[in-house]
Amino acid sequence: MLRVAVVGSGPSGVYTAQNLVQLHPDVLVDVIDRLPCPYGLVRYGVAPDHEKIKSLQNNLRTVLEHERVRFLGAVPIGPGGLPAERLRKLYHAVVYCVGAAADRRLGIPGEDLPGSWSATQFVSWYSAHPDAADEGFVRDARSAVVIGVGNVAVDVTRMLARGPAELGPTDMPQAAFRALAASRVRDICMVGRRGPSQARFTTKELRELGGLPDAGVLVDPAELALDPGYTDPSALPAVQRRNVEVLRGWARAPREDASRRIRLRFFLRPVELLADGGDSGPGGAASTAGPVRAVRFERTEPDGRGGVRGTGRFEDVEAHLVLRSVGYRGVPLDGLPFDASSGTVPHLAGRVLRAGVVAPGEYVAGWIKRGPTGVIGTNRPCAKETVLSLLDDVPVLASAPVPGDPVAALRAEGVDPVEWPGWRAIERAEAALGASLGRGGVVKLADWESLLAAARTAGVPQAP
Ligand code: NAP
Repeated sequence: MLRVAVVGSGPSGVYTAQNLVQLHPDVLVDVIDRLPCPYGLVRYGVAPDHEKIKSLQNNLRTVLEHERVRFLGAVPIGPGGLPAERLRKLYHAVVYCVGAAADRRLGIPGEDLPGSWSATQFVSWYSAHPDAADEGFVRDARSAVVIGVGNVAVDVTRMLARGPAELGPTDMPQAAFRALAASRVRDICMVGRRGPSQARFTTKELRELGGLPDAGVLVDPAELALDPGYTDPSALPAVQRRNVEVLRGWARAPREDASRRIRLRFFLRPVELLADGGDSGPGGAASTAGPVRAVRFERTEPDGRGGVRGTGRFEDVEAHLVLRSVGYRGVPLDGLPFDASSGTVPHLAGRVLRAGVVAPGEYVAGWIKRGPTGVIGTNRPCAKETVLSLLDDVPVLASAPVPGDPVAALRAEGVDPVEWPGWRAIERAEAALGASLGRGGVVKLADWESLLAAARTAGVPQAP
């Protein structure tokens, strides 16, 4: 029997496990996660109001319930957990599918002022990630600026623009629901540094902003028209052309009767976050006097090569809350090579490269392999490529001696995994919490203690 560890139980990890059991009759796969819950960004990244995408969990579940696949949660690999070299000795092969855990930085003055957060911090909070802190994101805010025009920016904009009736039935943790339901944020400005035809959001996600019950989308036709791709979209790829059509619709028929406003702005690049009680002026040192009050942008213009150049003209946009949504970034894994410029592990068709040479038995798939791009489905072919490489290596890998059951070895190292019955117990606890709160469905547990306490009830008989 070939024993393979897959580190990470998000889509790339689960698709890797699926390919392994489909393509090899004699493989046992342990899908390991540092959290007690599976599904990675499907659980902790997909927005709570995107039930249809979240329902993908049902497909991932059937893989994790396969007779030759086992879920081992609450098993950290690396510092403070099981060293990667030790893990490597327990299996014939290890596939790292750990995603891109950090966020990109803007590198501008004032970036870390109180009230300025990365979108990933905000998303983790409303998605109940047990490491997320309640930063009081919306407590004192009436206006918000979202920097970036990708799908994550659209997600956080939409969550800020939804009211209690829309948020209640989601699985959002109770504290985040209460805070967002009480939010007084009325103006949300989502800002791109390039033109509308260069935005990274997809059309379905963009269009959804226009369908919110109590939020109107506002665009400035003159600003949109600075983009040659907006004035003549005929040469644009299909997604961008459709995006432009949606924006044109809003330009023609702005909705001004809603109580919340979403402004989509373009050709503005952030140069500084300004604090309450101080103003450094363009290019000066940021004031640290108080919480953020505005974002200073430089107006840009197309450079004719797909990029933009600065114009030396500046505009301040008021914001009590700033969400920086400029992409994810992979983080180095203890004991594995890392390319800091791309935030990925160097690889050849999924085989980890150490100093340019294939390291037998170590593989990568998903965002840590190709960078933080693409939709969930992009992970399918990515995982398949890696698994085909691994299976080509089986003659070499299978000759290495490995212990019988890695779980016994893990326990000997002081690691006590949450296995599938533990996860199912967490699911039951979340359903019970939702019912007791009358939220109309599951409500997620948001802290380590509650998750692990729920997992420990796995062996306890259930009431009929
Ligand atoms: P993204 O798609 O890479 O978008 C990042 C945005 O940040 C871009 O607009 C980019 O502008 C901007 N940006 C980067 N550096 C900047 C800077 N220094 N100043 C100002 N703006 C800057 O990243 P994402 O939104 O985090 O999404 C990550 C991946 O997850 C994407 O593949 C996305 O489609 C996927 N996702 C999908 C869904 C869904 O399908 N519903 C939901 C969430 C996420 P430039 O283009 O000018 O660089």
